[in-house]
Amino acid sequence: MTAVWQCQGVTSTSTAGAVRQGSLRELNLAVVLRRIAAADRPPSRAELAAATGLTRATVSAVVDDLIAGRLVAEADPAPRSGAGRPARGLVLAADGPAGLGLEINVDYLAACVVDLTGTVRHHLVRRADLRPVSPADALARLAALAAEARAAAVRDGLTLAGAALAVPGLVGEGGRVRLAPNLGWRDVDVPALLADRPLVEPVAGIPPLLVENEANLAALGELHAGPPGPASFLHVSGEIGIGAGIVLDGALYRGARGWSGEIGHIPVDPRGRPCRCGGQGCLERYAGQEAILAAAGLAGADLPADTAAARLADLAGAGDPATLAALADAGTALGVAVAGVVNLLDLDTVVLGGGYAPLAPWLRPPVVAEVSRRVLTAAWSPVTVRPAALGAQSAAVGGAASMVRRIVDQPVGWLARPG
Ligand SMILES: [Zn+2]
Repeated sequence: MTAVWQCQGVTSTSTAGAVRQGSLRELNLAVVLRRIAAADRPPSRAELAAATGLTRATVSAVVDDLIAGRLVAEADPAPRSGAGRPARGLVLAADGPAGLGLEINVDYLAACVVDLTGTVRHHLVRRADLRPVSPADALARLAALAAEARAAAVRDGLTLAGAALAVPGLVGEGGRVRLAPNLGWRDVDVPALLADRPLVEPVAGIPPLLVENEANLAALGELHAGPPGPASFLHVSGEIGIGAGIVLDGALYRGARGWSGEIGHIPVDPRGRPCRCGGQGCLERYAGQEAILAAAGLAGADLPADTAAARLADLAGAGDPATLAALADAGTALGVAVAGVVNLLDLDTVVLGGGYAPLAPWLRPPVVAEVSRRVLTAAWSPVTVRPAALGAQSAAVGGAASMVRRIVDQPVGWLARPG
């Protein structure tokens, strides 16, 4: 059996006829939908045919299926610029499927709904100190918030398909949280605790609940819900812990067991301060939120994570010397660790996210200085260091956006669902 896929794998010849009609249709649906999603302006059917190598008749049939399935809509007609009927451009539908993004963190719960176009339609946040709360109770509260988000989505005519939950910890097989030290969680079977509370409509190929590390989902948020940017970058989230999401060629690099990105425990001083991980001199002890607050003279303030970042930004903006020195030192430590990662992976962009985003005006210069000094290639190919495009709770947005991205990549599961 041989099968030749031309161009984007659209028109195929199969010498043995072994390519099933179903799989060819699946492929065509995905290729056309991805092309519409990636277009700078709404493409017409003729433009899609030219771009994909499919016949116009096939494109029309595929587009009809996508429109009927509420994945694609016709854009408003372009202004008439001559004789003839203007071609209707095609866009992703804003009233079809949507992803549900959830986040559980030390001091808040969040739920957000992102539609197929990448627009955040709803974003609910509940403040609460979850450290004294049992995992089961915390997840029950989260499920209640998710139900509110779902009701809001339904009122918009959206259908939630796929949910992702961001947690500040290490996630193992089957969504079990191995360790979330700042929440005090160890071996919590999250899917089991939420099993009697289905959050979304089941869709083949889309996980009903993906549990993932918060830094990974925040990086996916930057990739899928931020402005167009590089396909490879490092996204560093600074909270009480420091996590990194590594995106390589447009995909999250999760590591052999899904535990990549623990940049907070890269040593920046091997004989330095003891860390709760058992090591010494870890980055987190110099550039984590508690370390910055302590250096700025705000130790023990016990501020919520984003409040702490805003407070530090206020003080730094007012020129408070202790805060400026604290941020300079934190930025230097962060730059040392980041330079090591950049040297290892050959990345050209570093995104400062989470609690680091509002502090970027002060963290960026020392990070850039260390990266310029330590990255071998920086002299002729500078590394971009910039704040994240998404604001607070970017992990929830990233989780939701990554769910709808799965539908774009593989629409047949959504189209095949009953009803
Ligand atoms: Zn450590």
